[in-house]
Amino acid sequence: MAEQKLPPVTAKRLPLYYRYLEKLHAVGKGRVSSAELSEALQIDSATIRRDFSYLGELGKKGYGYNVQYLLQFLREFLKQDEVANVVLIGVGNLGTALLRYNFYRSHNTKIVAGFDIDPNKIGTYVDGIPIYPLNRLKEVALLHDVDVAILTVPVNAAKTVFDEVVSAGIHGILNFTPVRLTVPPHVRVHHIDLTTELQTLIYFLKNFPPEDESS
Ligand code: ATP
Repeated sequence: MAEQKLPPVTAKRLPLYYRYLEKLHAVGKGRVSSAELSEALQIDSATIRRDFSYLGELGKKGYGYNVQYLLQFLREFLKQDEVANVVLIGVGNLGTALLRYNFYRSHNTKIVAGFDIDPNKIGTYVDGIPIYPLNRLKEVALLHDVDVAILTVPVNAAKTVFDEVVSAGIHGILNFTPVRLTVPPHVRVHHIDLTTELQTLIYFLKNFPPEDESS
């Protein structure tokens, strides 16, 4: 299947293309060149052409891509119509911000519930999303066929919560805690460590300053 041969870096970029093409389609644009996409998305145009070449014959040289056709193709490819249900565990500051954000820009993901152990938070709602006690995770995950859990718990709770998520049958984890844990092969974990990212950026700015624009 073509999907299996797709390089992971390309697969990661497809939702970006999809979102931008949706915008173009909404304003009635029928055609787009790889140069225009490159400018808007800050991705090298050769990379864009290569990404699209994995998907088959999608455009003609000098003509660009047909927005509607590309959009339909990517929608099917990404199964944008299939909603992936997501839960969030740890409704603190970061967790609350993510619940409020609720990934509205993407139509195919939806946070269906939040979980916490704080009795003051359990039973409340954040932007209409109910907050349940952690011991109801399995039941809610089963009911909503949950694919992904976002972890925004403190470091000391990460291991226990990780185990709970795995035993609830959830296969995808977006881990915002700095803890790295070993998980079974059928579970996929992506780590997002905002503090380290910020510190790394500052380190690079200090030690390898970007070139002066005027030079
Ligand atoms: P706040 O100020 O609301 O406590 P915070 O982001 O500073 O937010 P953290 O200590 O990082 O607080 O905790 C994040 C959230 O994780 C809190 O709401 C806390 O109640 C919750 N939490 C802690 N342990 C667990 C656990 N084992 N399972 C689920 N949630 C937990």
